[in-house]
Amino acid sequence: LLQLFRPLDMLGMVYRTVRQGLIDMAEMFRLIDTEPEVRDAPGAPGLVVRQPTVVFDQVVFGYEDGRTILHGLSFEVPAGSHVAIVGPSGAGKSTIGRLLFRFYDPWSGRILIDGQDITQVTQASLRRAVGIVPQDSVLFNDTIGYNIAYGRDDADVKRVIQAARAAAILPLIERLPEGFDTEVGERGLKLSGGEKQRVAIARTLVKDPPILLLDEATSALDSRTEQEILATLRRVSKDRTTLAIAHRLSTIADADRILVLDHGRLTESGTHRELLAARGLYAEMWARQQAEKGTPTETMN
Ligand code: ATP
Repeated sequence: LLQLFRPLDMLGMVYRTVRQGLIDMAEMFRLIDTEPEVRDAPGAPGLVVRQPTVVFDQVVFGYEDGRTILHGLSFEVPAGSHVAIVGPSGAGKSTIGRLLFRFYDPWSGRILIDGQDITQVTQASLRRAVGIVPQDSVLFNDTIGYNIAYGRDDADVKRVIQAARAAAILPLIERLPEGFDTEVGERGLKLSGGEKQRVAIARTLVKDPPILLLDEATSALDSRTEQEILATLRRVSKDRTTLAIAHRLSTIADADRILVLDHGRLTESGTHRELLAARGLYAEMWARQQAEKGTPTETMN
């Protein structure tokens, strides 16, 4: 009976998360037995990443005919740098992440990783190169080890342990009598939001991806847990090209570059200080969020 319920449980969880953010949509398509819209080009080679630079070049995209969401978006994330995307709700931030992971293809324009158009390489190689830490992670009703190793088909024990250590979840696992074999999820050990997030980070790190896509990765957490997770993310993203999609500006103020997206167009870009000085949409959003927190706004003097 358990076996019968498992796929259904999983589908429910996967579906909920897809609606909210970014997860492995290929898995969802497999589960609901539908053909994905995106296919590998015939004879497509694997993506070869030497310098993990990400480029959006005049990208135009919408989900439905007649409703354009991204209007010719161009930006570059230099190899090893940290770029954050901010902007009002519905601006198209998560859409950028979905396109980078190739859940959809642009209507026109190109997305390049290390100079290679992502529509011209295999999806498997693309998804191995880009690690996603989604806003709400999916935990399967299986062991904690399975949940981490799921990030990569050929993950061996050593990799799983390394990933758990880097995500700072190893001490918890080591305290469990059954260790990595502990069942988690609805019928197993209940993990807190922060612990789930750490499992998601470990799952991503198992792939050792040169590029990280952080989708509002700490939104559901209390502020202390959020700070701890942010510290972990900062550590694991240190030498990786990182694109962070954020609502709360305080979590990305130290990014090398911040892109402000409004109605599918880039309206501003710069460092936190530059954008405050520009007194545009970013400065306005920053002031509003500081006021909500009840702390004085930062001044530029
Ligand atoms: P938020 O900060 O609220 O998460 P966002 O900037 O990430 O917003 P997106 O999720 O990228 O915004 O959505 C941009 C626009 O695309 C929105 O108007 C949204 O309604 C629309 N949209 C998103 N996903 C789909 C979809 N699967 N089908 C149709 N429209 C969609």
